[in-house]
Amino acid sequence: MRQTCQCSQAPQEMVQFQPMIDSLSTQASASSASAPSASSQDEIQSLLRQGCHRLGIPLSEGQVQQFELYHQELIAWNEKFNLTAITDYREVQTKHFLDSLAGWPIIAQEIGGGALAMPSLRLVDVGTGAGFPAVPLKIIAPHLKVTLVDGTGKKIAFLRQLIEKLQIEQVEVVQGRAEELAHQPAFRARFDLVLARAVAPLSTLVEYLLPLVRIGGLAVVYKGANAAQEFIEARKAIELLGGETVRMAPLQVPLLDEKRFVLLIKKTRPTSIQYPRGQGLARKKPLG
Ligand code: SAH
Repeated sequence: MRQTCQCSQAPQEMVQFQPMIDSLSTQASASSASAPSASSQDEIQSLLRQGCHRLGIPLSEGQVQQFELYHQELIAWNEKFNLTAITDYREVQTKHFLDSLAGWPIIAQEIGGGALAMPSLRLVDVGTGAGFPAVPLKIIAPHLKVTLVDGTGKKIAFLRQLIEKLQIEQVEVVQGRAEELAHQPAFRARFDLVLARAVAPLSTLVEYLLPLVRIGGLAVVYKGANAAQEFIEARKAIELLGGETVRMAPLQVPLLDEKRFVLLIKKTRPTSIQYPRGQGLARKKPLG
C-alpha cells in the first residue's frame, strides 16, 4: 500500500557529485564522554546546540524549537504506541538527534558540500521508524526532498502528524515494504541518497537499499560496533547489487560514548531487476 503526502517530483537531471568540498566537515573533537551534568531543561537543550556546534552544523533558534517539538511529539505518542525505547530527554538528544546528524558531515565529505546543498537532491530513509535519521537531517537541511518509508502503520501515522506539527515541506511519507517499493518506477534508482539506521543486518539491508539508489548516488548505513564484521559478510552482496563500498567512517556522535559507524556505498552499476527478491528472501537468505 502506498500513501503519500506532499509528493515531490523526481529530478530530471542527475545531481553530479563533486570531489570533496569540506564546508560541513567535522570540527576537531568529539565522541566525548565529557557530558555536562545537565539538570534544567535549558541546560539539556544546550546539549543539542553544543553537539551541533561540534559537528560544524549551524543551528538557528527556530531549528532548536523544531527539535524541541519533535521530542514532545515523540514522548506524547510513545505513551500510546511503542515508537522508541529511548525516551529520556538527554538520550533522545544524543542517541536519536545527534546520532542522526553525525552522519551529515561524513556525507558532505563524500559528495561535497556543494552537491549536498542542491535543491534537487532526493533522499529516502528506509525503515525510518519515528523519523531517524532523515527527519533531523531535514530540519538542518530544509532544502532536501525527503521520502520517509516504513512498513508499520502507527509509525506512518506519527510521521504524518509530526511533519504537520513541524511545518516542514517537501516530505513524502510512504507506508510500504522496501523490497516491494523498490520495484516501482517511482522509487527504483530514483534517489541520490538512500539512508537506513537500525533496520536489518547489512547483507539484507543492501538488497533493500541499492535498487533505490541512482547510479552515482550513495547508500548510507548507520551501524554499531559490529559494522566491520557486517561489512565483510555483505561484501559480495554489495558487488552483486551494483555497489562499491567507498568507506566505513567512524561516526563521531558528540556527547555519546559508543562505537558508531557509517558505511558509504556508491552505486556504480545498475541493479539487476531480480533484486530485491520477494517472499522475504533478502531477510531469510541474504545474498553472499
Ligand atoms: N530507523 C529508525 C527505526 C529503526 S526500527 C531508527 O533508527 O530509530 C526498524 C524500522 O524499520 C521499523 O519501524 C520497521 O517497521 C521498519 N522496517 C523493517 N523492515 C522494513 C522493510 N523491509 N520495509 C520497510 N520498513 C521496514
